[in-house]
Amino acid sequence: MPKGIAASPGIAIGKVYILEKENFCILEYEIKEEVIEAEIKRFREAVEESKRELEEIKKRVKKTIGEKEAYIFQAHLLILEDPLLIGATIDRIRKQRLNAEASLRNTLKAFPAKFASAQAGFIQERFRDVEDIGERVLANLLKRPTLSLSHLEEEIILVAYDLAPSDTVAMQKDKILGFATNIGGRTSHTAIMARSLKIPAVVGLRDITQKVKPGSVIILDGNEGKIFVNPTFKQIERYKRSQKEFLSYQRKLETLRSLPPQTLDGREVELAVNIAGPEEIDVALRDGAEGVGLYRTEYLYMNRETLPSEAEQMQAYKIVAEKAAPNTVIIRTLDLGGDKFLSHFPVPSEINPFMGWRAIRLCLEKVDIFKVQLRAILRAGSFGKVKIMYPMISGVEEIEKARTILSEVKRELKREGTSFSDDVEVGAMIEVPSAAIIADLLAKEVDFFSLGTNDLIQYSLAVDRVNEKVAYLYQPLHPTILRLIDNIVKCAHREGIWVGACGEMASDPLFVLILLGLEIDEFSVAPTSLLEIKKIIRGVTWEETQKVASELLKLSTSYEARRFAQRKLSRKIKRILKGS
Ligand code: PEP
Ligand code: MG
Repeated sequence: MPKGIAASPGIAIGKVYILEKENFCILEYEIKEEVIEAEIKRFREAVEESKRELEEIKKRVKKTIGEKEAYIFQAHLLILEDPLLIGATIDRIRKQRLNAEASLRNTLKAFPAKFASAQAGFIQERFRDVEDIGERVLANLLKRPTLSLSHLEEEIILVAYDLAPSDTVAMQKDKILGFATNIGGRTSHTAIMARSLKIPAVVGLRDITQKVKPGSVIILDGNEGKIFVNPTFKQIERYKRSQKEFLSYQRKLETLRSLPPQTLDGREVELAVNIAGPEEIDVALRDGAEGVGLYRTEYLYMNRETLPSEAEQMQAYKIVAEKAAPNTVIIRTLDLGGDKFLSHFPVPSEINPFMGWRAIRLCLEKVDIFKVQLRAILRAGSFGKVKIMYPMISGVEEIEKARTILSEVKRELKREGTSFSDDVEVGAMIEVPSAAIIADLLAKEVDFFSLGTNDLIQYSLAVDRVNEKVAYLYQPLHPTILRLIDNIVKCAHREGIWVGACGEMASDPLFVLILLGLEIDEFSVAPTSLLEIKKIIRGVTWEETQKVASELLKLSTSYEARRFAQRKLSRKIKRILKGS
């Protein structure tokens, strides 16, 4: 039974659809001089056929999802005009006298080297797009049908090496029962998207694409991170029962929607939600979210050809601010880089993208882009309550620089007579160890902190958050993490500012219990976890969580901490979550 990382809760039972990128068996052979032109013609016809397919998908996506989402296919169409792909392949057919399939495959293989040697900005997402397109043309050359995620005829479980943002945006969500991927960890882009879309998912399965066959039936258990290939009748029956239980459990949780997130002894905390776009706010508010604790704005910049304009950004932030009012929306400024890239904005290839030119570092250098976003946020502030939050802060200087730019933006808006909110609070994400250690200094500079535990754990424990090979080292209860959080909260409270937690730790019942005891004031969680987390908060006393936290702070290894949690907390958590 393949075991991976439980990325999004729920159970799916259904037929496998493999989003296969490396599936074609390509024969390489030399062609005769006299058939070269015919081979080129065959290649050109496959390109034309691919264009027709893409036009068709683009039209459908525009109609069913939206104009913005259809942009990505416009970009794909442009790739089909690109001499780096088309011209180079024709050259290979002509000069090397290779058949069209092998010429195209070799061109695709040479792509990363070409990007690197030309010093052109090598962009992961764009390269994925090129691979995508290449596979489509290959399929047409081989006269093989390609999978179109935007036009599925039956319900499927999607199995893939990984999912690019272009895959998730175009997929016909009502036909996708679940997804399983070879790579990724709980906090990778794919896992976060799965939870946003409320689709059960298991990631980091290593070779699931090799272990299942298209059309075969699997059970995907997003709660436990398990996959059952060709399950027995008995297993299907058992999981159908679990599926039913899961759904009725969800319905029971819905009774908590309007109740306050308050402990049994009366400590009330804020319980907000993490979103990646305006389309997610309605469901979150219906489930009783008290505003947005993390608006990941970078998704607004993805799957398109140009940067979003000030008006467009303002509109997106305004919708969320108006809907969430009187509650607050914390808008995080652009957090590009790491595992999030754009096809239209060249971020140079880096050996360590998570530690490279990303987030606030990029914004402080690309001031024009930063200013447009700040203007849009401040203007949206006239329609509701917004706060600004900077990602990846590593020292006081970055806050100072950002403050200078924000003041300039305010002066410009005033001069123009544009209406905006002048008293927008500003916070820092604490997700870099240096920031956690100087939390006392940073607390004097901002109005609030929010713990980005996904990155804080990654950087403090030196464990790549998207690499499933080291996922076992990703230990939220490592003494380092607990001590850092304890220090951050104490420093913040000493300065009279509040501390939120918006990393995935805040969406986990066990960790929430501990974070409560560490005196976190606000929890911003994945939409799928909102009600479950409220149930935990309402099922404990603050006093007992403080005792738990102080016991944990005395332990010297994550192993002991996990054992403590297992012995002292698991049963309690199960009881709270099961209780009505
Ligand atoms: C984090 O790092 O914990 C966080 C919330 O930000 P992201 O997952 O978007 O990096
Ligand atoms: Mg982060």
